[in-house]
Amino acid sequence: MWKGKKKFLLSSSITTGVIILLVILFSFIFFRTSKSRTLDFLMEVSNQGVKLIQQEVKQNQMLLRNLAIFMEEGKEDPAALREKLVPVEENNHFRRMGFVTEDGTSYTTDHTDLSFASETQMMERFRPGIEGRECVVDGFEDLELGDPVTIYQAPFTTGEGMKCTLFATYGNEYYQEILSVSTFGGEGYSYIIKENGDRVVGDFDNLFRALEGEGAGNRPAVQQMRQGMESHQSGYVKLKDDGGMRYIYYQPLEINDWYLLSVVPGSVIRKDVNIILALAYGMTFLCICLMLYLTGRVRGAENSYWKKLEDTALKDRVTGLPSFERFKSDAKDLISEAGNGTYAMVCFNILMFQYVNELYGYKEGDRVLSVVGAGIRESLKDGELAARINADRFAAILRYDGREEIRSRAMDIIEKLETRAESSRPGMEYEIIMTAGVYVIEDPDEVVDKMVDRAKAAFTKEIRGTLENCGFYDNAIRDRAVRQREMENHFEAAMAQGEFLVYYQPKYDVKEKRFHGAEALVRWNWQKESMMPPGEFIPVFESNGMIVQLDEYMFRETCRQVKAWLDAGIPVDPVSVNISRLHLYQKNFVDTYLDIIRETGVPAKAVSLELTETVLFHNEGILNEALERFRDAGIQILMDDFGSGYSSIQLLSVMPIDMLKLDKSLVDNSTDNLRIQAALRSVVSLARTFGIDVIAEGVETKEQYDLLETMGINYIQGYYCAKPMAGDEYERLIREQEASK
Ligand code: C2E
Ligand code: CA
Ligand code: CA
Repeated sequence: MWKGKKKFLLSSSITTGVIILLVILFSFIFFRTSKSRTLDFLMEVSNQGVKLIQQEVKQNQMLLRNLAIFMEEGKEDPAALREKLVPVEENNHFRRMGFVTEDGTSYTTDHTDLSFASETQMMERFRPGIEGRECVVDGFEDLELGDPVTIYQAPFTTGEGMKCTLFATYGNEYYQEILSVSTFGGEGYSYIIKENGDRVVGDFDNLFRALEGEGAGNRPAVQQMRQGMESHQSGYVKLKDDGGMRYIYYQPLEINDWYLLSVVPGSVIRKDVNIILALAYGMTFLCICLMLYLTGRVRGAENSYWKKLEDTALKDRVTGLPSFERFKSDAKDLISEAGNGTYAMVCFNILMFQYVNELYGYKEGDRVLSVVGAGIRESLKDGELAARINADRFAAILRYDGREEIRSRAMDIIEKLETRAESSRPGMEYEIIMTAGVYVIEDPDEVVDKMVDRAKAAFTKEIRGTLENCGFYDNAIRDRAVRQREMENHFEAAMAQGEFLVYYQPKYDVKEKRFHGAEALVRWNWQKESMMPPGEFIPVFESNGMIVQLDEYMFRETCRQVKAWLDAGIPVDPVSVNISRLHLYQKNFVDTYLDIIRETGVPAKAVSLELTETVLFHNEGILNEALERFRDAGIQILMDDFGSGYSSIQLLSVMPIDMLKLDKSLVDNSTDNLRIQAALRSVVSLARTFGIDVIAEGVETKEQYDLLETMGINYIQGYYCAKPMAGDEYERLIREQEASK
């Protein structure tokens, strides 16, 4: 869990970091382009300003030039001439107009005597004009107001040959007005200075000094500007301000040594950029939020997926109990904490549960399992656990307070579950029988699987109707388990060394009063020392699958023997061989058996196969096909153990079988149970209608034999007629029978 969270945090911070880096890069690029665009615009503004100022100056000059021509031609006296200038002055941006003669006399529209200051001062201003130069003089202050002015001059000569200069005083504030067109949202402004930094328009005396005065940091920029102006160029400089930056574009005005300076504060660029950046940051923030939200959602979905998976993995779907794996790990903790003898492993088993599945469907089977599972869970006390092992088997860790206590608890649980599973589904006519196996845990370090195996080994088996529901794991069981392992280990060698023998139990033909065929039954000549009956080892090999190999061996041996007898002229009737239900799960089951017949060369009709009823119940489709193939090959099929389980007479009509074998339990009960007798009669008659012969097995007494004979049963197999015997003995029997014919 923590690992996942860490990974999640790492990946989100990496993504966020990358996004932030991208935004910074974007901001930088955006700032650069925005700045260069602003500077381009600044240059544009400057060009416009230059044009406007030049226009104004040119207009003023033109006006004066034309007036000068008029003055030169004028025949009037100077005072009258002066009066002519008055309307001109009023209609233009001039403070005053007038003319000054070379002898220092001045005539002004407002009658100001220009010589009031000093004659030299006056002549300083007007000398260029009197000397015949048309010019724009700067650097002087208004004689009356003291603010900076520009004096436009145009020379003329009077009729008397007197050199004069026409002049117009122009307040520099008008330039300012011209330049005050709003730029950069009112934050841009302009100055006009002379090359040495002196102001023409501006709120300083000398700009260079003023800027340098603002801080030493401005010196390089001022220096750059000075050099640019000296070489008559335009350019940008960047200056520091108390608030931030200023960008200045300087450009020659081509009027005297004037330069127009257009200024824009850095904040304008930043403001521009800031709006966009604010948008970008906002979007980024939203993106990150969205990403985090989505990742969160994905994580949430992922977590719930894992949780679901965990649930499915740790819980049994059918019963809702913990999974067996979970049970094992929890049980281990519980047991090792508690110590010796505190707990017992108790396993529960539902007897013949497969019939519920077979007869009523898996849904009903699952229902029974869930009722049982819930019942076991409810019976648990604090510190106890339960789970389903598989199929119809359950395991529980119960507190152990002595043998009798645990037995009565297990029995109580069983009783409760049995009634509950049955009563919960009225109308279903089946009985739920459960057994329990108990293993008292003495070594807490033992593997839980082993404890479960031992408890399972203590399950009691139903022995002909009587059942002790609760068994304890004890030495006998342990010995049996040891013996089982021994058998399994020795199996291969036993096969190779021919320890498995075929015994033959003759079948007796009731009508013909003679033996007719036999059943092949396996015997294990254990280590060639003792003869072991199949009841001991068949269940072991059925549980581990080795039975398939053994059955094939038995079939091959039987075929060989029958073929040998026939070849030797001994007329043996068909010998039947048992087949375990496990064969049906083998893909090549039928082929293998047909191959054996072909290999041994025995006639197909000389052997037959015995399948138990449960085999017939399972996998009807597969089974039917297999049986048809055997029948086509001429091999007869016998239904074994009929009447031992949930017999279905209906099967007789659908399955291709040749003979029905009544189970020993029916035979045993037949003599003193009239209902069984009635049932047997109807089975026999039904079988006859389908052309199926009937054989009874386990017949031990004359009484049984006689009864069965009257019922019309075709064959009898049992100790009453003959016990299973070795091959040579059976051979002798047949020979004798033939001889007595
Ligand atoms: P099964 O197929 O029902 O065979 C009949 C069993 O009843 C045989 O026991 C036989 O000896 C026994 N029996 C016959 N007549 C009487 C009688 O009058 N009274 C009593 N009490 N028993 C009688 P066996 O040979 O011990 O075989 C036991 C079971 O082992 C067989 O029951 C069969 O299910 C299985 N089995 C035997 N051989 C094989 C085999 O080669 N393959 C497979 N798959 N199972 C086999
Ligand atoms: Ca049999
Ligand atoms: Ca049988």
